[in-house]
Amino acid sequence: PLVLGIESSCDETAVALVRADRTILAQRIASQNEAHERFGGVVPELAARAHADRLAPMLAEVLDEAGVSLADIDAIAGTAGPGLIGGVMVGLVTAKALAMAAAKPLIAVNHLEGHALSPRLANAALHFPYLLLLVSGGHCQLLCVEGVGRYRRLATTIDDAVGEAFDKSAKLLGLGFPGGPALERAARAGTPRFALPRPLVGSDEPHFSFAGLKSAVLRARAAMAAPTAHDIADLAASFQQAACDCLVDRTARALAQVPEVTALVVAGGVAANQSIRGALADLAAAHGLPFVAPPMWLCTDNGAMIAWAGVERFLAGDIDDLNAPARPRWPLDPAAEAVRGAGV
Ligand code: ATP
Ligand code: MG
Ligand code: FE
Repeated sequence: PLVLGIESSCDETAVALVRADRTILAQRIASQNEAHERFGGVVPELAARAHADRLAPMLAEVLDEAGVSLADIDAIAGTAGPGLIGGVMVGLVTAKALAMAAAKPLIAVNHLEGHALSPRLANAALHFPYLLLLVSGGHCQLLCVEGVGRYRRLATTIDDAVGEAFDKSAKLLGLGFPGGPALERAARAGTPRFALPRPLVGSDEPHFSFAGLKSAVLRARAAMAAPTAHDIADLAASFQQAACDCLVDRTARALAQVPEVTALVVAGGVAANQSIRGALADLAAAHGLPFVAPPMWLCTDNGAMIAWAGVERFLAGDIDDLNAPARPRWPLDPAAEAVRGAGV
């Protein structure tokens, strides 16, 4: 089967054509960084308009490059949430229109399912069940991925997502937007000499917390009257080390609960971070498990992960109705308890 995927839930407009044999026939990813940079964060209304402007030409380019027509495609997959609702609606309505026009099945994909299954697009040897650390701009969760559509949440954040902590810390260190990659670059030149907290490390409870770490970065920054570039790099390195320690500690705790898993897997935008990848690889090795991380471009938002989730769902016979709703919130594991109302 051949599936067209459309992603528009945040500030990446992306389209891809992916075949069940894992070939990516063509893809486009357009980031909107310039549009949001001067606001220091993603502006939902600007994002929705940019998706609407870019989607049609990108679709034409992808079909043209792959040399296929809509008639050759077996299903149309579009992100239906969670995310910024204006952008989600633009992408989902486009997917529905194509599905209707071409009389092909629609697959309304959960963006998090796209991240969760993306490692299987890059790695044919990755089998269920696996322990997934899903770390992105809006989420920080540990999931036991038992199969397509079967995600058991073991932990989530009780306050900020880890990507959000990277972004906010980068902003208050004056490192620019988008913050995650900027902070990683700064940290590379620094030494982690600041003592920052590691919330919940060693705790019996399963969850994550990053708000205290971010506040500690703010206090450490405020304590310096005229920080040099060196000081900022050291503070960035200290933050990254602390965040990394939190992720490793919580993941180690979860590993003990799921002896059945065949691999430790990381996905989502923060999985592009080299220090975090390295630390998780060490953790997996210590547990005698393979470590799987998608290539960096597949970690941050893209169309191929949505098309691939579409492939997996199509093969499982799981397609949607044309009136599938766009959802601002959509937990991957609906059975998981809400944690202080945050981080579903
Ligand atoms: P979600 O997937 O939860 O809806 P999102 O789609 O906005 O959120 P992604 O595109 O998956 O998030 O990831 C973006 C996040 O990843 C941002 O918070 C960004 O700062 C972070 N990120 C990207 N690259 C890096 C990096 N090299 N180091 C740390 N964080 C990074
Ligand atoms: Mg983005
Ligand atoms: Fe994402």
